[in-house]
Amino acid sequence: MTHSAHRVFNFSAGPAVLPEPVLEQAQAELLDWKGSGMSVMEVSHRGSDFVELAAHSEATLRELLGISDDYYVLFLAGGATLQFASVPLNLAAAGATVDYLLTGSWGQKAAAEAARYATVNIVADGAGSHFTEIPAPESWKLSEHAAYLHYTPNETIVGVEFHSVPDVSTAPLVADMSSTILSRPIDVDRFGVIYAGAQKNIGAAGIAVLIVRKDLTGNARKETPGVIDYATMATNDSMWNTPPTFSWYISALVFDWIRDQGGLAALGERNRRKAEKLYAAIDDSAFYSNPVRLDCRSWMNVPFTLADDSLDKVFLQRAAAAGLTNLKGHRLVGGMRASLYNAMPEAGVDALIAFMEEFERTQG
Ligand code: PMP
Repeated sequence: MTHSAHRVFNFSAGPAVLPEPVLEQAQAELLDWKGSGMSVMEVSHRGSDFVELAAHSEATLRELLGISDDYYVLFLAGGATLQFASVPLNLAAAGATVDYLLTGSWGQKAAAEAARYATVNIVADGAGSHFTEIPAPESWKLSEHAAYLHYTPNETIVGVEFHSVPDVSTAPLVADMSSTILSRPIDVDRFGVIYAGAQKNIGAAGIAVLIVRKDLTGNARKETPGVIDYATMATNDSMWNTPPTFSWYISALVFDWIRDQGGLAALGERNRRKAEKLYAAIDDSAFYSNPVRLDCRSWMNVPFTLADDSLDKVFLQRAAAAGLTNLKGHRLVGGMRASLYNAMPEAGVDALIAFMEEFERTQG
């Protein structure tokens, strides 16, 4: 992977680093997209060029994730927050019970949104361990007739990730994959709904991808706005209204880039290696620590603290001076967080580890 000298290694949790070739292509095409003399932002979404882009992006995503014809793939305006509010409206009839498995703050927020529309049963809540582990499946309290089971395969703030798909419920599984989608292969057939905001592994903020099993659509509550009704958006190829065309375009470039990288198996290998070496550096040191149980540590978001938090500020300043940016942890957790999405090159992780070792040697 290329990395220009003037670019920093950006560890932001999102909006996050994008692949350089994607940015370069967007730059090269900005004034004249496909010989039109216009940018992609200035053309109709109903024109043949954009319709072709939309079809190509869906086809590439289907190929990357192995999505069958049993599923619709939708590109929807807004982020994951709008998507988790849309889930109960689409899947839970009035009076229905819905199951939520909480392993971090995004799951909590999704459950709070669902509580506006349905009876929420909390299957298990990792808050007791400060979200440092996934509660044991034996302790999960599923409801008998849940409309669906919602969970967050990767919790971006605390860095807790499921490394396999929970297999406990007959209710359709709904997954907020905002910070893990496309980081490795997954078996889409295990899910009823997968959704993800774009600004981590897909592209630019403003759009979300939603993959939904066709038989789960068509039963949205009558008060559901059309722009978030899965059936309405599916029937209209995600263009019932004007989509966020530029964000969609960037997603299409990112999907092509992933295919050029060798697809999800290749990226998964690289992501596993990146995360393993950073966790090893943390665990091998007495100065840095990560509280998450080993079997549920995130490959995408690695929080860590310094033994002496009065050094946080100087750590961040020196890291930024060394071209390692956006390492400040989330306000809920403190310390540091390194996000290692697909577009973070392995060289960035190597540079971070070298910096951490040097900082420990001189300050620790
Ligand atoms: N879910 C997860 C797992 C997230 O990481 C985020 C954003 N960081 C969201 C939901 C919310 O996404 P948005 O801000 O795009 O609505």
